[in-house]
Amino acid sequence: MGLLDTVSDVVSEMGPDREASQRPQSKGAYWCDDCSVRIRDVEYDGEGTPTCPECGQEMRFERRPDSGGCAC
Ligand SMILES: [Zn+2]
Repeated sequence: MGLLDTVSDVVSEMGPDREASQRPQSKGAYWCDDCSVRIRDVEYDGEGTPTCPECGQEMRFERRPDSGGCAC
C-alpha cells in the first residue's frame, strides 16, 4: 500500500525537474566526515547545527562549490 507511494516519491525526488528547482534554494549540505553522512540544508528544519544520526557529533557545513564565486 505505502510501497507505491514511496517508490514514486523517490522517483520524483531524483527527477531532473525537482533537482533543478531545488538547486537555487540549497546553499550547501551538512557532513559528518567520520560516517560520510550528508544532510542537505534544505532537508534540515531545525536551528543551529544538526548532529550526525550515526555518531551524534556536530556536523560540518559545506557550501556547494557551484554556488560560490570560486569554481576551482
Ligand atoms: Zn557521524
